[in-house]
Amino acid sequence: MYDAVIIGGGPAGASAGIYLADKGKNVCIIDKSTFPRQKTCGGLLTIKTLELMESSPIGKLDSSLVLNRINRVSLENKGEKIAEMRCKNDFYLVDRLTFDNSLIEKYKAKGGHIIEGRAVTKIKDKSVVLNDGTEIECRYIIGADGCKGITGRLVNREPFVCAFGIEAEIPQRYVDSSALLLEVGYFKDGYLWHFPKGEYATVGFAFTYDKYFDYVGWFKSYIKKLGVTENVKLKGAFLPYGMGSRTVTRGKNILLAGDAAGFTDTVTGEGTYYALLSGLMAAESIMSQDPLATYNKKTRQIIVSVEKSYELVNKFYGNRDGLLKRLKGKTRFLSWFCDVQVSRNIYDFSISRLSAAYMKYKLFGNFGKNNSL
Ligand SMILES: Cc1cc2nc3c(=O)[nH]c(=O)nc-3n(C[C@H](O)[C@H](O)[C@H](O)COP(=O)(O)OP(=O)(O)OC[C@H]3O[C@@H](n4cnc5c(N)ncnc54)[C@H](O)[C@@H]3O)c2cc1C
Repeated sequence: MYDAVIIGGGPAGASAGIYLADKGKNVCIIDKSTFPRQKTCGGLLTIKTLELMESSPIGKLDSSLVLNRINRVSLENKGEKIAEMRCKNDFYLVDRLTFDNSLIEKYKAKGGHIIEGRAVTKIKDKSVVLNDGTEIECRYIIGADGCKGITGRLVNREPFVCAFGIEAEIPQRYVDSSALLLEVGYFKDGYLWHFPKGEYATVGFAFTYDKYFDYVGWFKSYIKKLGVTENVKLKGAFLPYGMGSRTVTRGKNILLAGDAAGFTDTVTGEGTYYALLSGLMAAESIMSQDPLATYNKKTRQIIVSVEKSYELVNKFYGNRDGLLKRLKGKTRFLSWFCDVQVSRNIYDFSISRLSAAYMKYKLFGNFGKNNSL
């Protein structure tokens, strides 16, 4: 019998696996794909993600995985430049195929078991059943099977609120390679991005899922406007979007981590950080006296972060044009916001805190001691 079975070997599952294997636990990751596997994702990692990795058994991000480091961000509204920020911290751009694979390799090197190419189809009290009928016994189950996985559905019976994103890798020459582009004007929420990665750039967009929207048609016409003539492969995927109040444990032994738990920052769509963080928290909790209570307590800070980010997004898109008019050219404020956003471990911007910081900025030209809110 395994101490823990982890369903899904993305960042959430792999980080939990690395932690448990590092502590000598008998652990098994099960993934329906075979690694290295592709994951639709912009592949942008923030400084807090790198710091988290370094301070945990996951270890330092291997520099050979970093395709680009960039600290300039261009913010646009329907093609009109709002500001160009230069942030203190670089953004790190990776390919999720190699990034996720490197985590799985670390996990295996620590002695973790993996079953690849087979899906979990049923979850029982002390075991999981695979699509070939194999039953695997375990004490704890970590559900890290992504936004639309079976564990999320088992723990939360409410339908998932998700964004849907579509992206493609296009040759670098069609975009500005010196800055990340964030275009916030085209959709009801969410944004469109250009993430330059050297020979190519990942270009994509995501917003709250709308079944009537022609994602492929819109994207094709957008990249045509950029001048792209090559045939590029389009990839699409769901991501959690403001599902902060969801339950993250069930029964006596199921813990959800990463997208399965709804952990993405709604402002940026950043999910890799929360996946790694919650995976580590789930693993740590399993080693405590009362794993589910410990995990519920630990993840509270993530849930509050997700809720706050969702609140901020709703306020922003509720008065987008007015706010963007006021933010136009406010490079210093926006650079600071960007830096705080990517470096803080826990997202704690309430609208009132942000407004107070902005007022301080307007009155005194700074944000107070340590640039804090
Ligand atoms: C278009 C788009 C762009 C994004 N861009 C960024 C970005 O730039 N930066 C960022 O930080 N985040 C980004 N995200 C979010 C990020 O990709 C996710 O938050 C992150 O991958 C979550 O990791 P995870 O381990 O929870 O899930 P995943 O990475 O989705 O891994 C889940 C794993 O579970 C496996 N699985 C599923 N069901 C089963 C089953 N029944 N049995 C066995 N295995 C199963 C899957 O094969 C998969 O390997 C983006 C998301 C999208 C959709």
